[in-house]
Amino acid sequence: MPSSCPLCHSDRVETRCTGRRVAGAAGAITAAASSGLAAMSRIDPTLPPAFRVATAVTTAVLSGLAFANLGCKVGATLGDAIDKTVLRRFNCLDCGFSFCDPDPQTNHHDGENT
Ligand SMILES: [Zn+2]
Repeated sequence: MPSSCPLCHSDRVETRCTGRRVAGAAGAITAAASSGLAAMSRIDPTLPPAFRVATAVTTAVLSGLAFANLGCKVGATLGDAIDKTVLRRFNCLDCGFSFCDPDPQTNHHDGENT
């Protein structure tokens, strides 16, 4: 975490988890959509149409929910990595200035050797 805003030096700085949010949502949607389609494609075509539709909806919703949850977790993990390595965006709550972490390798140099 950055200690202060580079513009106004305020320490009221929040992290903007853009990558995590976007990747999490994208992962959930992708997983839900693909699992829903996969579930629908597995339905027996010899079943009566009404039954097929009911089965398709139920299967798509159930598997979609399950995979959306999984996809969201995968996406959030991926987005977390993106935030930490690429985006790493911060937002000053006092002046509204957005900035990247000026020093990602925040080391403590206390001058003490143990
Ligand atoms: Zn500021």
